[in-house]
Amino acid sequence: MPRLVCDRPVLGTSSELARVMSAARARETAGERVLHLERGEPDFDTPPHIVEALAAAGRAGETHYPDPRGVLELRQALVEKLASENGIRCEPDDVLVTVGGTHALFLAFQALLGDGDELLVLSPHWMAIPRLVGFCAGATLRRLPVYLEILERGWAPADFARALRAALGPRTRGIYLNSPNNPTGAVLGRAHLRALAEVAIERDLWLVSDEAYEHILFDGVRHVSPASLPGMAARTVSVYTYSKTYAMTGWRVGYLVTPPEMRAVTGPILSFYTTHGVFPAVQSAALAATLGPRDAVERMRQAYQERRDLLLRGLEAQGAVRVPKPEGAFYAFPDVAGAMAGGDVWALVDEWLGMGVAVLPGTAFGPEYGTRVRLSLATRREDIAEAARRIRERVTAGAGGAEPGSGRLSPALPGAAGGAAQRVDRAPR
Ligand code: PMP
Repeated sequence: MPRLVCDRPVLGTSSELARVMSAARARETAGERVLHLERGEPDFDTPPHIVEALAAAGRAGETHYPDPRGVLELRQALVEKLASENGIRCEPDDVLVTVGGTHALFLAFQALLGDGDELLVLSPHWMAIPRLVGFCAGATLRRLPVYLEILERGWAPADFARALRAALGPRTRGIYLNSPNNPTGAVLGRAHLRALAEVAIERDLWLVSDEAYEHILFDGVRHVSPASLPGMAARTVSVYTYSKTYAMTGWRVGYLVTPPEMRAVTGPILSFYTTHGVFPAVQSAALAATLGPRDAVERMRQAYQERRDLLLRGLEAQGAVRVPKPEGAFYAFPDVAGAMAGGDVWALVDEWLGMGVAVLPGTAFGPEYGTRVRLSLATRREDIAEAARRIRERVTAGAGGAEPGSGRLSPALPGAAGGAAQRVDRAPR
């Protein structure tokens, strides 16, 4: 029989999320109730006026091959949005409509990373990043922990700039930034972004700025787009998606903004030869989202903030799970060292699954996060309150000795037992 899969390591790894979700599903199939704090997907429906726009566009015959760069009317609307909300001045030809943020990041890395190039990935980072970089033959990544240092440890902009300079190597071609950050909820303010801009300009680097959560901000914190800072538009690829802001994960639509020099590459080559653009009727729906009422967006933002407060309150009065207060996005990334009782983080994930709480191990977001888990706020407030109660009770009763999860889930959750699959997943790349 011919070989089925080529041997590139990037094709041989499984996702931590898939493993936790399948273990959770197995429990649900067995009749148990699981509280889902592992998923990074809004639990709200897409606002109705956006759904209506899709239906109308489909009926109007918007079903033919699209312009691979994106429908011009949408790109024009995005130019306005980028100017008024992000402070980015660009032309419609600098905007490329993509199949969600994932495709936008894929295209950005394909455009920027060649054989021997290195990307400095600020961490913890969204778990897809190593694989997306892995698709660029010969490119590598190096990680630099920054978000918790800024959120928890109060790193000043000068500390940040110093760490960046020390981490850059001769082959570093660009930096990947994600603010508001998945998984910590850190939001980098103007002063920290100025420090990053100074280093990027000094070392002549690209910046890939992933702004997937730009509208999910708490307590009046403001989002700053690095491409709006002096000297940065010429070296920044800014990535956006409709997935989070408008609860449109299934629609697969996002966009990126590049410097004019990249026009010849992004639309005619990268988009044309990967997807040939995005379904035009979905782009009409994206236009309706961009130009339409924002009350649903604000309601969802408020709901995430309330859930964050509920989670923080629920985990008060115990010392084992320490939650740095998220400023945006819809996750918390607590330090769970005090709850681990000698085992590794997969053992804790397994144990918590045993009490009906599904979470992701911190190692999904960088190998150094073996004492963290990610808790998602994209789930019902009652479930967040109940999950916090169960966690609090477990850690105050004294963890470790609990047997419900241990062993039982090992086949479904191989990492819990320290099997080979776990070692593959944990390899940096
Ligand atoms: N960037 C970050 C930081 C994310 O968390 C996600 C999705 N979880 C994406 C990009 C991509 O989202 P999508 O492809 O749905 O637009």
